[in-house]
Amino acid sequence: MADQFSKSSSDDKDFTGLRLRQVTKEFATFTAVDNLDLDVPSGSFFALLGPSGCGKTTTLRMVAGLETPTSGSITLAGQDITYEKPYRRPVNTVFQSYALFPHLDIFENVAFGLRRRKKAQVEAEVGQMLELVELTSQARKKPAQLSGGQQQRVALARALINQPEVLLLDEPLGALDLKLRRAMQIEIKRIQTEVGLTFVHVTHDQEEAMTMADTIAVMNKGVIEQMGAPDELYENPRTTFVANFLGQSNLIDGTVTARAADVVTVDMHGISVSIPTGRSHADGDKGWVGIRPEKVLIGDVGEALDAPGNTIPGGVVTDVSFVGVSTQYLVRMPWGQELQVFEQNTGRRRLFATGDKVELSWRPEYAFLLDHDQDAGAGAGEGAL
Ligand code: ATP
Repeated sequence: MADQFSKSSSDDKDFTGLRLRQVTKEFATFTAVDNLDLDVPSGSFFALLGPSGCGKTTTLRMVAGLETPTSGSITLAGQDITYEKPYRRPVNTVFQSYALFPHLDIFENVAFGLRRRKKAQVEAEVGQMLELVELTSQARKKPAQLSGGQQQRVALARALINQPEVLLLDEPLGALDLKLRRAMQIEIKRIQTEVGLTFVHVTHDQEEAMTMADTIAVMNKGVIEQMGAPDELYENPRTTFVANFLGQSNLIDGTVTARAADVVTVDMHGISVSIPTGRSHADGDKGWVGIRPEKVLIGDVGEALDAPGNTIPGGVVTDVSFVGVSTQYLVRMPWGQELQVFEQNTGRRRLFATGDKVELSWRPEYAFLLDHDQDAGAGAGEGAL
């Protein structure tokens, strides 16, 4: 990660977004956040994604001023805010528990920040904000008379009306049921696009992060494993944790046999496969060959599959799960490992059955190679899509 953040601290003044440098937070002997570097560009929708306990809430709380870093610095729009009092930071937080005032109606809940700062124009600004979150008709109701999703939109409006530089969202949709959560993800994304403020969203739900954010930082055990656009992280993971936590991956033991300028050749249990150099993240002789289940093609023995390059014979289907849009196969390979294959149900061909002999294939440009020193099971089952 270091090369992504090689700018000197003198550049901090020119960076208009949120910047964390070498931020560490220790609780007694436990390091919750470990030497974290992070750049959140101004106006972006940024997600901190990771399993429970990885340190994402602690990171957010340090940005909000609710925790003080043990070391490191936090700057916002060029200003050092590391030790600034929470209420003096241009930052607002929306929590999972909406924390609305139960005795005030929706209008007054949203107006609260303006009234406290003795602002004029309260009527007009609150009116605009209620329009933005589509709650104009609910203005005179009390929070208890609204649904969970509506209450969360009130919380959002109440934070946005203060025009913070950064809005922090701490698992804001965690209390909602799945259907409402999906609707709110789209809604919050629309609002962020409309207001153009920087949103930093903390979640353990990768589908939520991928739906909403333009940049995701995947966090594990207090450090950032990888940061990038959702499709970039999914298509070209650099660590076994990212490969398994963001969706699912087949990871196969391999030995590097040749490295050319644009391609790495790997022996995978006696079968030679190639991987583009830009997708190889292993320097040593050994590596994990990675391939997403939906990128693997399955066919009868000898069938010509639409994927020249990496073809692996000798598979036997051991499990078939028909899940409507796709069929998910488990295929035992000659070396004993079961690989996952997801096939779209296009109706173009018959389904395979348990016991069928098959061959697998994939296009080399979809494979990736990961460092063998990592646990191939890291992140698996912690957040499958
Ligand atoms: P979750 O999604 O469960 O909230 P998280 O990724 O947000 O998880 P944090 O809340 O940041 O994780 O906690 C990171 C680690 O730091 C956890 O192991 C937690 O137990 C520990 N921790 C957090 N706050 C404190 C505290 N005040 N004192 C001691 N340990 C703490």
